[in-house]
Amino acid sequence: MAQLFLWTSNIIAVIVIILSIKIKNVKHELTKNIQCIYACAIACILLNAADVLPIREGASLLLHGLYLAVTDWLVIALMVYARKYTGISFGKRLTKFFCVLALADTISLLVNVFTRHMFDSKPASIGNTTITTAQMKLPMYITHLAVAYFPVAIVLVIFGYKVFTTTKMYRTKYRSVFLSLILIVAANVGYRFFETPVDISPILYAFMAISICYFTLYYVPRGLVTRLLSHTLKDMDNGIMCFDREGKCVYANTEIKRLFNADGDLSKFEENYRVWKRGRKPEELTEESWQDEKMLDGEMNYFHTTFKPLLDENGNHAGAFFVSENHTKDILELKKQQYRALHDKLTGIYNREGFIERVSRMIDQNPEADFTMVCTDIKDFKLVNELFGERRGDEILMQIAELLMSKTSEGTIYGRLGTDRFAIFMRTELYHEDTYVEYARNLSKLASNDVYHMVIHVGVYKNVNKKHRIVTMCDHALLAIEKIKDDYQQIVAYYDETLSQNIKNDNQLVGEFDKALAKGEFCMFLQAQVSREHVVQGAEALTRWMHPDVGMIPPASFIPLFEKVSLIHRLDMYIWEQACIKLKQWKEQGKTDLYISVNISPKDFYLVDIYTTFTMLVEKYGINPANLRLEITETALMADINKQIALIEKLRAYGFAVEIDDFGSGYSSLNTLKDIRADVLKLDMGFLSKTEFKDRSNAVIDAVVTLSKQLGLSVVSEGVETVEQVDFLTKTGCDVFQGYYFARPMPVKDFEEKYMNNTIHE
Ligand code: C2E
Ligand code: CA
Ligand code: CA
Repeated sequence: MAQLFLWTSNIIAVIVIILSIKIKNVKHELTKNIQCIYACAIACILLNAADVLPIREGASLLLHGLYLAVTDWLVIALMVYARKYTGISFGKRLTKFFCVLALADTISLLVNVFTRHMFDSKPASIGNTTITTAQMKLPMYITHLAVAYFPVAIVLVIFGYKVFTTTKMYRTKYRSVFLSLILIVAANVGYRFFETPVDISPILYAFMAISICYFTLYYVPRGLVTRLLSHTLKDMDNGIMCFDREGKCVYANTEIKRLFNADGDLSKFEENYRVWKRGRKPEELTEESWQDEKMLDGEMNYFHTTFKPLLDENGNHAGAFFVSENHTKDILELKKQQYRALHDKLTGIYNREGFIERVSRMIDQNPEADFTMVCTDIKDFKLVNELFGERRGDEILMQIAELLMSKTSEGTIYGRLGTDRFAIFMRTELYHEDTYVEYARNLSKLASNDVYHMVIHVGVYKNVNKKHRIVTMCDHALLAIEKIKDDYQQIVAYYDETLSQNIKNDNQLVGEFDKALAKGEFCMFLQAQVSREHVVQGAEALTRWMHPDVGMIPPASFIPLFEKVSLIHRLDMYIWEQACIKLKQWKEQGKTDLYISVNISPKDFYLVDIYTTFTMLVEKYGINPANLRLEITETALMADINKQIALIEKLRAYGFAVEIDDFGSGYSSLNTLKDIRADVLKLDMGFLSKTEFKDRSNAVIDAVVTLSKQLGLSVVSEGVETVEQVDFLTKTGCDVFQGYYFARPMPVKDFEEKYMNNTIHE
């Protein structure tokens, strides 16, 4: 029996030693404290077990005294622990006080070996073994009991209080310490008062220490975690449901029940899960996720659902769960953003990007169909803003969009490409020109007053080449408009391949310009101007491009192009110089009576300093400025009339003769005459070509010539082709004629041979 007690005590002591070493690295504020409890418990167990050893009486007294002293310190360690663990503070002073008492008690217990004032030894027997056990001596032993039991009582009260006042979930963690203390006290009291041969309470110390360690360092109240999880899951925006291995729904939160409209009835989920599994075994299920849509309370909701199998620690299928994240807010925001990105803010119809996207989708979905692209453009839309105000401008654009919506049939896509440009895309069979003519007419009524009449042009690219980009299709339709953009009558124009070809050709010509200029491919031709007596007075310099591959290119093919790309001044300056070189040559050969008229493009006024250029040229070649006539078109004059008046004054003062070219082709001819003092007026060919109302046009010519004379201008008629014209113009008093009737523009050499009696050679 005694052996059993000894061995049990030893084994328990070893276990406790191992456990106390194990917690060495656990980071917790109570780790040290618990180690202390462990240490005291171990000492108590071993010292107590020594009772059954056959040792001398003195040693037995010492060991028993030590055992009792250690219990003092154990309860103090317990007290400290209880204070920290429960958070109930009963003052450090009390602890200190008990420490002093414990110290005194310890000394007293050690002195007892000699004095035997607290306990003595007496023989006792366990089974067949006789051992030496302690015999309490009252009243001195009472001091030890007081020192040991008071702190225990305090600890019991604290834990008892916690057990009865704390929430259910936490009760376990206090209860076990509380119960083990009660057991210890009971065992101890039993030993003391019923005189059992050995004290078994130290063995219980071990259990108490272990339970303290477990509940303090490792225990997590299950209820708490479950409650936490169910709280978070229950109120989550995401729907969650969990199934066990057999497919039984073990959990479904509020959101997933709302999604499936399944109040408490989980069988609905089980049925769905069964269908979803499609007979697959649990082991065959792997993680997957997908997008879902669902109508809820009349609104579309969007979900991202994930399925995940749950595996146990050995990797076996233990169940599975679904998480449905409600992405409705994000998706709606995304859709809003997409809508904004693809729609025009002002009119609400597709913007350029939206139109392009929809059109390409339509083409992809109907690979067999033929389509037509229609683009509209308002002529001088900025004038609408200037004349009617920007608000009205915006209103008009909105009305255009509305009209588009009402006019176009189903299956037609339309959008706003830019400020005043709209595009419509449809199957070719849906395109009817009349619709668009009417549409444009209706639109032009939106903004019209005395000075402005809105004109909308419609460009059509029929049966688009589907390999082209959508932007190119629009460009083609808009290119068709280019053809008619200055025409107020023609509303609809069609794109054809030649338009593109023209652009390509134009690009080629522009690309070749530098080289052509350097190589002298631009040639000055001269067209004679003759007097009433048919004597040559001079000539107009007209350019021809002698292209090495194409042959001679007429100016109509490149002058407007070079004007557009701002190359014209370089060509003009070159021709002006050629004219000056020729005049210098003629001068050197004594021919100073002939003049050459050179053309000045309206663009030149922006690109070069006209006055400086011409005066420098004249000075460089030492020619008489009167022999260089400057043709300035009416359009150029009207652009900035005051500046032009000043310039013309300066040029004339220097000695140049200034001619008003193409008179009669513009709008304000008579105004021009009023404001500008020039030397020559060149009647536009248009006057002569209008043969339909011969009498009326003749009357106009007559009046203009008379007027010019009165203003001191000499009149040159261009485009004279017939003898009748010559006769009529002679009668009106026209001074000089230029036209095919007399001569075509010709190379300088031919001109010299023809009109200068072969006296002039290069
Ligand atoms: P423009 O200044 O009005 O030149 C007169 C045009 O009328 C010339 O055409 C000439 O060939 C043509 N013409 C002359 N007599 C007759 C006739 O009896 N009947 C008909 N049907 N036409 C006649 P061209 O040479 O083709 O030049 C066309 C335009 O090109 C010129 O019109 C002028 O505006 C421009 N141009 C020609 N060379 C130059 C240049 O070096 N610089 C600039 N800036 N423009 C030039
Ligand atoms: Ca001219
Ligand atoms: Ca002219």
